[in-house]
Amino acid sequence: MKNLCYESTSNCLLKCPYCISSDNGVMKKDHYLEIIDFIGNLLPERLVISGGEPLIDPLLKEKIALIIKKYHEADKEPYISISTNGTSLMDQDMWLFLKNTIQCLDISLPSLNHDTYAQMRGVDLLNQVLINIRKAVSYGLNVRLSIIMTKQNYNELENLLKFANEVNVNSVRVGRYFPFRDAYDIKDDYELDETTVIRIIDNINNGKYANIYRGKILPPIRSLSMMKGYLNVNFDGMLFVPNMQGKQLLGSVSDVDINALEASFKDSQPKIFIKYKEK
Ligand code: SF4
Repeated sequence: MKNLCYESTSNCLLKCPYCISSDNGVMKKDHYLEIIDFIGNLLPERLVISGGEPLIDPLLKEKIALIIKKYHEADKEPYISISTNGTSLMDQDMWLFLKNTIQCLDISLPSLNHDTYAQMRGVDLLNQVLINIRKAVSYGLNVRLSIIMTKQNYNELENLLKFANEVNVNSVRVGRYFPFRDAYDIKDDYELDETTVIRIIDNINNGKYANIYRGKILPPIRSLSMMKGYLNVNFDGMLFVPNMQGKQLLGSVSDVDINALEASFKDSQPKIFIKYKEK
């Protein structure tokens, strides 16, 4: 199994109108032990921990330590990426813990403009995100900036890339708003037209921004069908893949047949992920 996304909590400090993970509902009980057993059976090449907001999950350290133990028991090293909105206040212990345990901190930054940020994220916590991006770089983490493109912010791409260069993050991923899961309901307000998306993809692939941001830029994926091999597990231990209507549920981690699951993902997974070079 190449990639697995673990949505570890439903709690979040933001209120994005297009929040995709809200379709999980609110976490009542954390089933992390059985989910980590499942991860330990699969040992994906890359594990993304997301939420909600994983960095406000009080059990995050314990979860990461248990996950690493599973890999080490199998004589393997994990690749753990945390997907964060970067809004939480973190002490030095937490920064050092992240530096020593994870391989990538993927921080979402859709805008440098307070109004646009608030419009896209429901709350204006932009200043805290900027502080955390600089801190993450100063602690020596492998930092990726994730920029989701919507009707509201696509004109800001050059400015965001200039910022990425100035703060010296390791890579940038330009994502696109996709109308899947709960985001489907408000797609007309946010989704860019296909021509604009293709222009952004082509500009990145043709090196238009190479003089603005000198690290690697990952372009948006071309179609939602490329997401079909992207396996997710939520805090309830439910497995699913996103699709245009929401998500396709595959069952629970406690009763899924791991071998059959791996076999079903074998063909689709390699199409999903684009390898990138570190800056
Ligand atoms: S940051 Fe993520 S989890 Fe939080 S509201 Fe926005 S989309 Fe939802």
